[in-house]
Amino acid sequence: METPNNSSTQPATPDTSSLAHSGSSTPRSDIEFPFPFVPVRADTPKDEYILVTGGLGYIGSHTTLELLKAGYNVVLIDNLSNSYICVLDRIRVLVQQHYSNHSEENHVPILEFRQIDYGDVGALRRILDQYQTATRKPWVGSDGPKYSKIMGVIHFAAYKSPTESIRMPLPYYSNNLACFVGLLETLGDYGIKTFVFSSSATVYGAMMNESNEPIKEEHCVHEDELFTDGDGRIKLTQQGCRGLTSPYGRTKWMCEAILSDLIISDPDWTVVALRYFNPVGCDPSGLLGEDPLGLPNNLMPVVCKVLRSELPALKIYGTDYNTNDGTGVRDFIHVTDLAMGHLAAIAAATTNCLYTRFRSFNLGSGLGHSVLELVEAMEQVSMREIKLQLTDRRSGDVAISIAQPTRAEKELNWRTQRSLLDSCRDSWNFLTRNPLGYRNPES
Ligand code: NAD
Repeated sequence: METPNNSSTQPATPDTSSLAHSGSSTPRSDIEFPFPFVPVRADTPKDEYILVTGGLGYIGSHTTLELLKAGYNVVLIDNLSNSYICVLDRIRVLVQQHYSNHSEENHVPILEFRQIDYGDVGALRRILDQYQTATRKPWVGSDGPKYSKIMGVIHFAAYKSPTESIRMPLPYYSNNLACFVGLLETLGDYGIKTFVFSSSATVYGAMMNESNEPIKEEHCVHEDELFTDGDGRIKLTQQGCRGLTSPYGRTKWMCEAILSDLIISDPDWTVVALRYFNPVGCDPSGLLGEDPLGLPNNLMPVVCKVLRSELPALKIYGTDYNTNDGTGVRDFIHVTDLAMGHLAAIAAATTNCLYTRFRSFNLGSGLGHSVLELVEAMEQVSMREIKLQLTDRRSGDVAISIAQPTRAEKELNWRTQRSLLDSCRDSWNFLTRNPLGYRNPES
């Protein structure tokens, strides 16, 4: 489970009463636009593309699938450092299935894949050269005017384990940060200046434990900002961060800060930073899932390894938190809901519908569930017992991490639709259809 750190304050007992909620039953009444959520339809010119980095990974593959289903052409790059090539074929199968079921849609979008490291600027340039065109708005790059068919980028490629980053910070700073600067410079040269960034709730660091309320975007800003707190008081948030406890969290915060600086220096950039809470679940087809290459750090892949008998028991880190059952509480979000958040973000960014040219959004459900509740839900859908090993709190974890998602609801017209039980059902489906994960020889 990816969690920001801190330990100091006593958090409020969260509302965990709606384990099986569907998005439409969430008890919030201050939202003005009509629900249920209408999936974003891409009104994309047929020769424009979205560049997706890290698109064969867990979140990238689900987002690529939804982009294609919505009509976007996609250029996907990945170095396969934490993914499997078979994911590409599986995305293609699902897209084909989708369009054969929707025969009224005569444009089947294009999916192109290049296996490169996104930090290899030469390789990246060779790819971007192929998407240059004379028909787009000009941009004067370092070596002359450039035009691109790539209308925007969604950047997933990164290393993602806070725990691992404490042991080996330099690869994290290299891959997540140094390469990132090179990516932005290169994109700028090609006039590609619409950018959606995979950020994380880790950017809130210590603030998670200091707030008795779900965390708002205004708690972590890159320029000083006034905002109204839960009691209606106007407060000033100064730019900066507090209590980041892993190099991973620092890379996410620094990438956001760089992007914020960039839009100030160059008004042609439009940036969305999506701060994910705890993604779980997978596509209901059972063809896409979460199957990291090394030892998993996130909760659900570990649960799945226990269910596959690849691990003897699930370690629960901390049973004495001030929560309903003593275990940590997280805002679990179904990965397809998360993917749809990216579609909403790219649609807003490419149509100049953002409130500011750097805009951060929490992507979470606004609901908290404890680690034990997730375990119980997995036991319910699998009808199997999950062996537990109760251990001490782990450094780097917070007691409660719940998003306040209203900004995304109001400004992106996006909200979660799927429950924790849906996520567990879909993960179990992936597990039963792929007993060896993506290593299945038939995949
Ligand atoms: P993932 O590891 O499954 O996917 C990342 C993909 O990027 C992998 O396919 C990997 O092979 C690729 N990649 C890594 N470095 C690369 C490089 N230098 N060049 C090309 N490809 C590269 O991770 P994920 O869970 O899908 O996460 C995607 C993004 O979301 C990451 O930036 C991560 O930090 C962020 N995020 C994830 C979570 C989570 O819990 N999964 C939470 C918050 C934020």
